[in-house]
Amino acid sequence: MYAEIIIDITHEKLDRTFEYKVPEELEGELAIGSSVLVPFGNGGKVRQGFIVGFSGECSFDPDRIKEIRGRAPKSVRIEENLVALAAWMKEHYGGTMIQALKTVWPVKKQERPREKRVIRRRVTIEEGKEWLALFQKKNQKARARLMQALLDNEEADYGWILRKIGVNASVVRALEEKQILSVETEKVWRNPVKAAGGRQDEITYTEEQKEAIRIFKEDYQAGNLRTYLLYGVTGSGKTEVYMEMIRKVVEQGKQAIVLIPEIALTYQTVMRFVRVFGNRVSIMNSRLSPGERYDQMLRAKKGEIDVMIGPRSALFTPFEHLGLIVIDEEHEPTYKSEQVPRYHARETAVKRAQIEGASVVLGSATPSLEAFDGCLKGRYRLLRLTRRVRRQRMAQVSVIDMREELKKGNRSILSDCLREKIQDRLEKKEQVMLFLNRRGFAGFLSCRSCGYVVKCPHCDVSLSWHKGGRMICHYCGYEEEMIHVCPSCGSPHIGAFKAGTQQVEDLIRREFPGAGVLRMDLDTTRGKESYETILSAFADQEADILIGTQMIVKGHDFPNVTLVGVLAADLSLYISDYRAAERTFALLCQAAGRAGRGAVPGEAVIQSYNPDHYSIQAAARQDYEAFFAEEMKFRTLMGYPPAAHLMAVLMTSGDEVLLNTGASYLKKFAQRIRTDSGLEIIGPASPAVGKIKDQYRKVLYLKHEDYRVLTRAKDKMEQYIEMNEGFQKIRIQFDFDPVQTF
Ligand code: ADP
Ligand code: ZN
Ligand code: ZN
Repeated sequence: MYAEIIIDITHEKLDRTFEYKVPEELEGELAIGSSVLVPFGNGGKVRQGFIVGFSGECSFDPDRIKEIRGRAPKSVRIEENLVALAAWMKEHYGGTMIQALKTVWPVKKQERPREKRVIRRRVTIEEGKEWLALFQKKNQKARARLMQALLDNEEADYGWILRKIGVNASVVRALEEKQILSVETEKVWRNPVKAAGGRQDEITYTEEQKEAIRIFKEDYQAGNLRTYLLYGVTGSGKTEVYMEMIRKVVEQGKQAIVLIPEIALTYQTVMRFVRVFGNRVSIMNSRLSPGERYDQMLRAKKGEIDVMIGPRSALFTPFEHLGLIVIDEEHEPTYKSEQVPRYHARETAVKRAQIEGASVVLGSATPSLEAFDGCLKGRYRLLRLTRRVRRQRMAQVSVIDMREELKKGNRSILSDCLREKIQDRLEKKEQVMLFLNRRGFAGFLSCRSCGYVVKCPHCDVSLSWHKGGRMICHYCGYEEEMIHVCPSCGSPHIGAFKAGTQQVEDLIRREFPGAGVLRMDLDTTRGKESYETILSAFADQEADILIGTQMIVKGHDFPNVTLVGVLAADLSLYISDYRAAERTFALLCQAAGRAGRGAVPGEAVIQSYNPDHYSIQAAARQDYEAFFAEEMKFRTLMGYPPAAHLMAVLMTSGDEVLLNTGASYLKKFAQRIRTDSGLEIIGPASPAVGKIKDQYRKVLYLKHEDYRVLTRAKDKMEQYIEMNEGFQKIRIQFDFDPVQTF
């Protein structure tokens, strides 16, 4: 028997399978996805590899074929279905097979199981009492205390008991030697979910919820496995619907994955699931230790949990009976990976579901154009929740034209209208959220005399001004001391354009001196728990005003918030990205959705320099369909996804000249392969950020309506790159339907 093996080296030239003989003693022990050691290359150096296939014969001289040395130590086998998924990802998104395998298999090696030490009494109560009397007589106080504890509990946690009664290990050993007790170790799972008690309250579903659940259950029962879009405003009860659907799937002995953006994966959210599914729920997130991560994978694999909740990468949870994948907030850009293979969780979930025989539910209050278009084209089934569960009205939204404010002579970043409304809420003891479109936006230093902007020496972006007189690069972390004289013209009029979150905080504190203010952005949430700390402080009404970036608009319920202010709403419109309007619309809707979640109706104020833009107007009316219609026209006209598909070829190199030459050759090659009609080629262009960490960047875009035309072009370009020495010092990555600009 022969095995096809992918060698664990990330190098385009090695991106193919190599054949090895399976030694007889390993036959039957190895399977697709097994990790093995093989001699590789001329020196026969031993390398690790993954088996991706078997065959009865080999394609060249059987006498010269090398043999598998053995299993890789401490390795974990990749599920066969996940190997198949990895192959699809490689084909669909580019990159090498080994990169794809490592993506679907985030656990690198076996971790030592966590052990719990317990002390167990080995004598009867009577014998124990005799020992106790003896120790007391001999005045051996520590031994007596331990003996007493063991009479109270036949078994106890080792560390706990030592601490509790204040004895040390030598005392335990002494009693162990007399065979009064034994110390035993047990393997226990590391469990990141610290479950609090409590049961789920009985819920009577609304008619809309019932209808969505009914449709899903009927399809599921009939073996009709589909992808659904659950489109419902915030607070319309989507999470309850997911849980009911999961319950159905679990009843059938199947398992479910719930993807939630990491930022929304809060304790409260997890507890809602725990209240329904008990300890058969677990989570995956970036804060888990390798040991915790490994244990969650094993628990899933062994079927000891039914529901896995986590961000994008939880999609690869190795459930053996996967029945449902839920993607909450499916429109979030974080569902697209920034690493090769640059997969999108939505498409990859649909593919995994197809391989495993599962259903998919996408949920959103502001669906991605892809998802809604998918419903219109009949690929997905639309389930709608149009009303909030508690019947609260949607917030009343007003749009303020900031150009008019400037004309009136108001140069502040707060409009008069917003200022008055904040004052009003403070008097009523209601809470306010102020949302700034982007962290440290325009917090850059510029010279008012000559326009010079202070930039990072390694990246083509401006440095951001931070309190304490430092300037920091948000791409690479480079820092330098604040400067006071323009390096270009010598003018002293160099300063920060003040409108970052910190500046808003300073302004608010000055204008409303009595108010309690909290700020939440990447700077204030560095610590492990501070994110939750800030949110719970605000939920407990320890502050009146919460200022923040995107982070604060994501799915938290603050019933006492009756006013949301959006400062500089259109900022995200100006970034050069075809999804700018979509993102602006979603952010504004989410922000407005934060207001009025309690008994008092809410209000939102959107400040903008571009108030007539359709994304702002539609958001003010919370009119998704109007936005969708307008935005689809633009995408169709321009040939952007989902109307067509876009493939970005990102090239990076430390050598600018080499990069430019390589980029133009690649373009010429792309033009030659343009045998498929209608393939449009744009670039090569310098991306918005032309250099990061001293690596120059160029990007080439290919557009076509048919995705497969683009993957074929990718395959040909990969071959061309591999064959040409000139590309050795250029790193090339493909990105299909990118969600960010380059
Ligand atoms: P979404 O996920 O759409 O934002 P949730 O499922 O979180 O909405 O629901 C919002 C709130 O309303 C939650 O506190 C939830 O427990 C509650 N809720 C949802 N459905 C019902 C219902 N049918 N009856 C009563 N409360 C409900
Ligand atoms: Zn200057
Ligand atoms: Zn930098």
